[in-house]
Amino acid sequence: MKASELAVLKELLATPKKIVIVPHKNPDGDAMGSTLALYQYLIKTGHTAHVVSPNDYPKFLKWLPFEETVVKYDLQNKKAVRLIKEADLIFTLDFNALSRVAEMAPALQQAKAQFIMIDHHQQPDDYAVVTYSDTSICATCQMVYHTFEMLDATDQVDAAIATCLYTGIMTDTGSFRFRSTTATTHRVIADLIEKGADNALIHEKIYDANNFSRMQLLGTALTNLHRLEEYRAAYITLSQEELDAHDYQKGDTEGFVNYGLSLDNTVLALIFIENKQEGIIKISLRSKGDFSVNLMAREHFEGGGHTNAAGGKSDRSLEDTVAYFISILPQYKEALNE
Ligand code: 5GP
Ligand code: MN
Repeated sequence: MKASELAVLKELLATPKKIVIVPHKNPDGDAMGSTLALYQYLIKTGHTAHVVSPNDYPKFLKWLPFEETVVKYDLQNKKAVRLIKEADLIFTLDFNALSRVAEMAPALQQAKAQFIMIDHHQQPDDYAVVTYSDTSICATCQMVYHTFEMLDATDQVDAAIATCLYTGIMTDTGSFRFRSTTATTHRVIADLIEKGADNALIHEKIYDANNFSRMQLLGTALTNLHRLEEYRAAYITLSQEELDAHDYQKGDTEGFVNYGLSLDNTVLALIFIENKQEGIIKISLRSKGDFSVNLMAREHFEGGGHTNAAGGKSDRSLEDTVAYFISILPQYKEALNE
């Protein structure tokens, strides 16, 4: 964060404020961990704060400290609209363009509040008085920890806050294995454990909570795994019918895309998931090395993200979306074989 922006942030937080903290739509571990950690800090330091999420999040996150306080914009619309209207400050965490909150974007655009962005995705929009954006950091949760450091407030990090931050760093780094994981990340993690994050228990709660139908759905996903050897690429499809047959719940497909990337000699993996209700195919993209799925998602799938992990969507049918993906691969052939 720039020194001038840190000064602005300190000034804004110097007196009690009404604050709304927003994660992106379909929030993941990093989005929920970072918003809930910041929420607790703001409450502890005398502010009125609420996490307002565009929609619900997966069951495997429904044990995070204070998650029961989260206001969902789609389910609790009146309350959410009122909180956004009344807010002096709105923190947007783990996203950098208001379109990432979908249906909630107009409410944010009309708000009188000043915005503060903390985010690690590429190409941030310009809507905040404080834009703390760093694409080299593995997780927004790590950036929230650095924010506490800059505010000289790490003594406020208790076991519950540490638990939230640990969770987001763990999930966004694939359990500390992605390239974005640095020595600094491990130092932050060590601090969080010292402050009371129960690391083994957090891994269990996130990764060992599979119900039987989810494992069966994974079986279907793996049956649908295709590889395109000349492009060192792989993809998985899941149709609405297949999801329905396995009692699909939000979050069930989290991490499936990585099975494609775990194939030998593969640097690009996608998963295409049909959503009949929204009339779209939701796409997750992953890569290894310098191949940028952020660019591929931006150019072809109305999305974006990071170099090695991005998301997007398509309005075509599942079949046509896959055919389109295969049709664009030749232009990437060289880059995929570098
Ligand atoms: P996932 O595939 O796990 O949903 O998302 C991977 C990364 O891409 C995350 O950092 C996520 O925030 C980002 N992402 C996912 N979907 C979209 C999208 O539709 N638009 C943009 N800009 N980013 C996305
Ligand atoms: Mn993140």
